[in-house]
Amino acid sequence: MSLENVKELLSNFGWEYKISGNDDVMYSPNYKEILKEEVYQNIYKKDDFYFKRKVKFIKLDNIEYKIEYLEDVTKYIEFIISLKKDKLTGLYTREELESYVSRLNRSSIIVLCDIDDFKKVNDTYGHQIGDQVLTLLGTIIRENIRKNDFAGRYGGEEFLVIFDTNKIDLVKQRIDKINKEFKLRSGKLKLTFSAGISIYKGDKKITETIKDSDVALYHAKRNGKNRSVVYDASLEETLKKITN
Ligand code: GH3
Ligand code: MG
Ligand code: MG
Repeated sequence: MSLENVKELLSNFGWEYKISGNDDVMYSPNYKEILKEEVYQNIYKKDDFYFKRKVKFIKLDNIEYKIEYLEDVTKYIEFIISLKKDKLTGLYTREELESYVSRLNRSSIIVLCDIDDFKKVNDTYGHQIGDQVLTLLGTIIRENIRKNDFAGRYGGEEFLVIFDTNKIDLVKQRIDKINKEFKLRSGKLKLTFSAGISIYKGDKKITETIKDSDVALYHAKRNGKNRSVVYDASLEETLKKITN
């Protein structure tokens, strides 16, 4: 195969490439490198496909060329991702949440959601319907968050969503929309959840910020459920008065 054939072959695949001697590189700039975890190193994503960057050397007319190319590893990556997700809700597992949280290094908004009166659903309609409700809320959350947001199942009927933004109003709107949709799509059950919202600015530990969300969630429940409350320090004072 001649160099021209190689070029033609590559361009048939839509690659942009550069071949000009020993340091030659073939690349496709439209492919975006995905997560920074070790398992994902050198993995690129385009649309719904994943590719691993590989290097090969070929010799043509006594000149050695280095070619970087991307191998389709979609099946493998989809399998890896499925292991990190909770089967019922399709959201990340608690373990993955913790791993993500430990790597979080930019300002984000942390929302803890807890379904209202969920025990009644199980008691009235049975565990199976309860499970379907969890699947439903997981689906609605997934449909309403952006690519850089991260949602996981925190506990039984509790969900943690990490929004990649510092705009609290935007997050509040998004959460309220999810809640309305949950009520609508749960039909005659008319289910809702309560949510506690807090901002992670990097000035304290992320686990502390999650605790702030929990405090706000507690207030959302106490104030009648089916609402979201944004954390502020005065909530702690009220909490102390209630619990003392
Ligand atoms: P509140 O409005 O105060 O949150 O009341 P609640 O009834 O939702 O809260 P509580 O914490 O008392 O109940 C949570 C229930 O969630 C209890 C548990 O049986 C149920 N649960 C936890 N995990 C699952 C699950 O995977 N499937 C089902 N069907 N139920 C679950
Ligand atoms: Mg709960
Ligand atoms: Mg609950």
